[in-house]
Amino acid sequence: MQNQLKIYNTLTGEKEVFQSILENQVGMYVCGPTVYSDVHLGNCRTFISFDMIYRYLLHLGYKVRYVRNITDAGHLENDADEGEDKISKKARLESLEPMEIVQKYTTGFHEIMAKFNALPPSIEPTATGHIIEQIEIVQEIINKGLAYESNGSVYFDVETYNQENDYGTLSKRKIEDLISGTRDLDGQSEKRSPLDFALWKKASPSHIMRWPSPWSLGFPGWHLECTAMSHKYLGAQFDIHGGGMDLKFPHHECEIAQAKSFTGTNPVNYWMHTNMLTLNGKKMSKSTGNNLLPDELFSGDTTLLEKGFHPMVARFFMMQAHYRSELDFSFEALTASEKGFHKLMQGVKDLELLSTKEASTEDVDGLISSFYAAMNDDFNTPVLIAQLFEAVTIINKVKDGKSSLSKDDLNNLKSTMNALVFDVLGLNYIDVSDDSKLSSAMEIILELRKNARENKNWEISDLIRDKLNEAGIAVKDGKDGTSWSVNS
Ligand code: AMP
Ligand code: ZN
Repeated sequence: MQNQLKIYNTLTGEKEVFQSILENQVGMYVCGPTVYSDVHLGNCRTFISFDMIYRYLLHLGYKVRYVRNITDAGHLENDADEGEDKISKKARLESLEPMEIVQKYTTGFHEIMAKFNALPPSIEPTATGHIIEQIEIVQEIINKGLAYESNGSVYFDVETYNQENDYGTLSKRKIEDLISGTRDLDGQSEKRSPLDFALWKKASPSHIMRWPSPWSLGFPGWHLECTAMSHKYLGAQFDIHGGGMDLKFPHHECEIAQAKSFTGTNPVNYWMHTNMLTLNGKKMSKSTGNNLLPDELFSGDTTLLEKGFHPMVARFFMMQAHYRSELDFSFEALTASEKGFHKLMQGVKDLELLSTKEASTEDVDGLISSFYAAMNDDFNTPVLIAQLFEAVTIINKVKDGKSSLSKDDLNNLKSTMNALVFDVLGLNYIDVSDDSKLSSAMEIILELRKNARENKNWEISDLIRDKLNEAGIAVKDGKDGTSWSVNS
């Protein structure tokens, strides 16, 4: 199966047969979160997509070194090397030490990833833990004549680099267009050209996060950390580098320029970019406020939802779209995914109880091939899920005595389906029949509570709500009645 995996490479714009640098081993680097606030569902979509990709590579038998960093310094408020450091700013606003902010949101990120059943990466390095490596790279790029110091800061010289290289190769931008698209420097700027980007910034007196360097007390530019950490843990050239598509420019473009200047080689063989999760047709984003937090989704505690959804339903919803397609979040879409998820769980459960016959009336080998054909086609999870539903149809037919499976076919189908549903899509088994018993019981309890409310017996109605909450069930009163969800 391994040779057949094709990956869409942003660099070439084509699906390419995947060939790892070292046989049976993969080096994969994914840009991690900037830990100055909670991750929203959009961020989660990107990390869950790469979790699926990681899981599939493991399933194919690769030994994967998966590095996903934590950005805890250097990410300024805007991409033009201006504004405050996002973490410093949050620390100032909340009167906390920057590392308290980092700790708080890193812990929160891990908790959310665990709820989504995402595997931890093999290495999770931080930008602040790699200042020395970053300084070394800056020095080397200066030595090569591709960066210059200006007033204690160091900038990458894009135009000089471009004389022998192709800046813009990843995002398909031409340097001439980039130049004409930027505003003129006003003479106050430290940069020689507006395209140049910071490798090192001198800290202003109010900037709390600062380290000594040959140029100033300062801090590294945001793009540099990923070059330093990917180089340290995966080498000068590695297999896969990923992130959301909004990171293509400038972040990943700058990474290529820095790494090539530092090592002389193209750092990455396959650049992979995930598409955005949208809300009301617009990208979910921290800065605009157009977003939903995972905990709001689980509890239903938001005006966007009539009830909460289990993290596995949300994961299934994400897997129903290809990682390179845009996906719009809505209550209706989640409700449809919940039905689909339950149907799949029921199918997986029924599969365990099927009895076999001498011969099969179904083409199980063909079905299994279609599962792999989907995944090998650039991790096409929506097609895989459609094929898994085909399998559920067959399972139901066998259950009803309308079809039969041989012992070998049944065993093959069981092991492949379990591996793909649980190990690769990363879903956890949820017993649907338990769920429906719980639903019936909750219907009775909420009916009793409704009666209490109608009789203005607030003591009883509040007691029921509080006791359910203690038992891990959140009850929400809305204008269309009362809904409930299991706290995850
Ligand atoms: P940040 O913490 O802002 O650096 O973002 C972490 C990751 O989430 C990056 O890979 C982003 O590209 C990705 N991301 C941000 N917004 C969205 C979104 N709406 N949908 C999918 N991924 C996103
Ligand atoms: Zn990065």
